[in-house]
Amino acid sequence: KFASRFLIQCFFLFFPFTKELARVRVFVRVRPKNDEDLLSGGDSFECVELQPELKRLKLRKNNWNSESYKFDEVFTESATQKRVYEVVAKPVVESVLNGYNGTVMAYGQTGTGKTYTVGQLGKEDPSECGIMVRAMKDILANTSPGSFTVEISYLQLYLESVQDLLLPEKNNIPIVEDPKTGEVSLPGSVVIKVQDLYHFVQLLQIGEANRHAANTKLNTESSRSHTILTVYIHKNSQGKAGSEPSSLARDTKIGVPVQNGVATILKSKLLIVDLAGSERIDKSGSEGHMLEEAKFINLSLTSLGKCINALAENSPHIPTRDSKLTRLLRDSFGGYLYCASLSSRHLTVHDLGHSCCHKDWTYEKATLGVPQVSEIGSARTSLMITIGPSARNYAETASTVMFGQRAMKVVNMVKLKEEFDYESLCRKLECQVDYLTAELERQQKSREDDREEMEKKLRDCRNSFAELEKDLVSRSEFLENENSHLQLEIRSTFDELKLQKDHNDLLNDEVARLEVTLEESKENHLENSTYQKVLADTTQMYEKKITELIEELEDEHACFGIAQEELHVVKKVLSDYQTSFPVGEMKIHGQNEIDELRLKLREICELYKKTVQEFQSLKTENEELMFQKIQEQNEVAELRMKVQESFQLHEKTLKELQHMSRKNEDLISEQIQGENEIKKLTVKLQEMSNLHEKTVNELQSLQAGQKTLLSEKAMLDEELCKTKQRMSVEEKQRKYLEDENAKLIKLVDENDGDSECKKQHLNGITGEISSGFGTPMSLLKLHQPRESISGQKATVAKIYDEVGLPKIISMLSSEELEVQTHAVKVVANLAAE
Ligand code: ADP
Ligand code: MG
Repeated sequence: KFASRFLIQCFFLFFPFTKELARVRVFVRVRPKNDEDLLSGGDSFECVELQPELKRLKLRKNNWNSESYKFDEVFTESATQKRVYEVVAKPVVESVLNGYNGTVMAYGQTGTGKTYTVGQLGKEDPSECGIMVRAMKDILANTSPGSFTVEISYLQLYLESVQDLLLPEKNNIPIVEDPKTGEVSLPGSVVIKVQDLYHFVQLLQIGEANRHAANTKLNTESSRSHTILTVYIHKNSQGKAGSEPSSLARDTKIGVPVQNGVATILKSKLLIVDLAGSERIDKSGSEGHMLEEAKFINLSLTSLGKCINALAENSPHIPTRDSKLTRLLRDSFGGYLYCASLSSRHLTVHDLGHSCCHKDWTYEKATLGVPQVSEIGSARTSLMITIGPSARNYAETASTVMFGQRAMKVVNMVKLKEEFDYESLCRKLECQVDYLTAELERQQKSREDDREEMEKKLRDCRNSFAELEKDLVSRSEFLENENSHLQLEIRSTFDELKLQKDHNDLLNDEVARLEVTLEESKENHLENSTYQKVLADTTQMYEKKITELIEELEDEHACFGIAQEELHVVKKVLSDYQTSFPVGEMKIHGQNEIDELRLKLREICELYKKTVQEFQSLKTENEELMFQKIQEQNEVAELRMKVQESFQLHEKTLKELQHMSRKNEDLISEQIQGENEIKKLTVKLQEMSNLHEKTVNELQSLQAGQKTLLSEKAMLDEELCKTKQRMSVEEKQRKYLEDENAKLIKLVDENDGDSECKKQHLNGITGEISSGFGTPMSLLKLHQPRESISGQKATVAKIYDEVGLPKIISMLSSEELEVQTHAVKVVANLAAE
């Protein structure tokens, strides 16, 4: 059972491997419900159901009728723009950067999110950026401006007329195809070199505004036109090979890139197409549009649908020339389809009409002379189908989904062609079994290697852990030592600081005392100055007095002189008198006069004596005063000396004070330094303790890591055991299958000579199956009685006619293991037949 299931899985896995790269990839995205959907919420059932894990979309017509469709990816309402870009457009952008042409298209009913998916600018919310902006971001990030030129054109296709959205005056631009290469160009359309992303967004905005203006002018809806953004990437010939995005090798001699000797051109383009609303396909003309509009409105979309159908059906004629859109997309979309079954990207693609006639899928290599050829044959295309969730639009949704399915069918045709070949299927299955057995062995080996590696890692881990532990222990010891050392240092610093503080206090006291002294000396100085002033005043007063006395003395001297002169005069008068008068008479007369004179003289003498006395007393007084003055002068000198001394003392004290304050400042700065040092030491201590803690944590986490490693190892051992068991089971099953196969081959050999016998054998087997082929479960009913031989024959014929292989294949993919086993048996029997 296991082996058969395994084989079936391989069978389904095998085809996508070989064809995946070469397919138009089709995606479907459902728009979230909008207000309108919610308002008309009367829908009793959801018409769309997505199964993202199976990449399927289930379309329900009603409660009992639904169909499933497979896509390359289905995006639910919650799918982000980023994911949509990465799955849908990024691979296309990457191949464009590698020199291929690529196309991303959005197709769907109006209002289902085509423009949101491809053209959203995301100005307010960058997460809403659509494919255009994201693609350009990727392109700019992968192309250096010196080596590459990135240009864009932005066009609108309306009523089969191409209008330039970057220069709206340019209308009716012709589409020209190179008859040799099939390359499509639009001479006259504006091509602008993109400087940066901001510039690009601005261009898109301009295009959008022009589109709006043009549509308003023509009174049309934008949903009826297609917008086509083309990004041209050119590699400049003088550019350096190193700056290229692709890994293509370059032949510098001819200036053309070469891979495996085949030339490709250094030119590629990316088309991002926002198609018109798909609802117009069947309705044009019936909604009262103007005649001209009705004639053309859907021509391009209809033509696109026709081309897809023709390609899907492998039709000999592909009507690409019927519309401008298909002509525009011809070298991107169509060319790719031809390549679908060929795994090389260097293929020549002929005209599409011819290409599909090549049933045997032959191809030619591009020659250096015609490098463009490879360009055409290497397009990559993604088609995004957008649908709404509402059942109201069931018809539109269904037609959109069918369109996508037809685009997917192109590759399915190729697949089916190979699926019908039982012998090759059997061979392939055998190959797969061999391959898987080898793979299993390889895996076992790699597991073993992994285990060894893990064990080695574990050992290494243990060793490193032990080393780390040792290291940690020594580190923590060292840290502890350092810690105690630092603590001691801090303590000594504290003591020192204390001492310094005491000293500082002392100095502060001294300063205070000195300040008091200074204050006192200042007061003394003030007192001295008042003394000096008083002294000076007194001296001045005394000096004034002395000069007055001297003046007085001089006056007295002068008086004395005058008195002496007067005395002389009197004495002379007296003598003269004595001589001139007779002695007798004169004697009496003279006697009186003499007496008078004597009296006068006596008076004068007394006055004189008095004056002399006065003078002497004045003199002594003066001398006393002089002495006093000298004394006072001495006193003043002494006081001066004292003042000077006190000045000196004051200066000295000041100096001392200054010195002290300097010392004090030093001490304070020293104290601050000490405090800073303490802080630093504390921080260091904190750091040390943090480090210690961290180390301890690290140690713990390492221990936890070791534990997890050990548990992982145990798990791995267990897994290995299980794998070994599984392998032995698989080995047994493989052997059983091989035996079965051998038996079958033997049976075929035996029956070679005896066809009747073979038929019976086959009928016997098929009879077993056909007895209940209607449902997979009925295959289990093998215990039922066998029918007659003729009945069996009829049943075998019935299998071919009615049941067919698709049914068998669906049984192979059934979830029931037993159903699968029987389906394998049927396949094997058919193969044997
Ligand atoms: P279309 O181009 O197909 O006519 P739009 O892109 O203009 O449709 O989308 C119609 C509306 O639905 C817009 O308002 C758009 O923002 C919104 N919308 C479409 N798809 C989504 C989505 N996946 N998530 C959120 N809003 C969406
Ligand atoms: Mg739109």
